[in-house]
Amino acid sequence: MVADPTGPFDPDSLFEMARQQADHARAPYSGLHVGAALWSDSRIFAGCNVENASYGLTICAERGAVMNWAAAGSPGAPSAIAIVARNARGNWVTAMPCGACRQVLSELPGSSELQVWIWNGQEGESIALGELLPRAFGPADLTGRED
Ligand SMILES: [Zn+2]
Repeated sequence: MVADPTGPFDPDSLFEMARQQADHARAPYSGLHVGAALWSDSRIFAGCNVENASYGLTICAERGAVMNWAAAGSPGAPSAIAIVARNARGNWVTAMPCGACRQVLSELPGSSELQVWIWNGQEGESIALGELLPRAFGPADLTGRED
């Protein structure tokens, strides 16, 4: 079944799109195929991880989804992102977003409301981004906080 990329928020559709993206991952080094689907403006923006032999240039699925959202003109304020991962043996496994992705997600508009949906292979769990990255570095840190 192909997920409808438009319509009301539905975690199952978001996970379905993320699973499709995991099929597109380029992960010759880790074997971890990750897919992400970002929900914003009643639309889904998807991404997959793209690994690089230099390792440091690898782009995670979550940031790929954010780039696709930005390339579409940054519509709306993303309210959810679904993340799935399949290991080299082909099994779905739980994969939390890395620190870099948490930081990028924290600067999306409305990120205080963003829910991160993690797929463990059988069901999804929703976690607030603020719980994954409390007291995040942000624009206020560039000038110094006075709180
Ligand atoms: Zn990441």
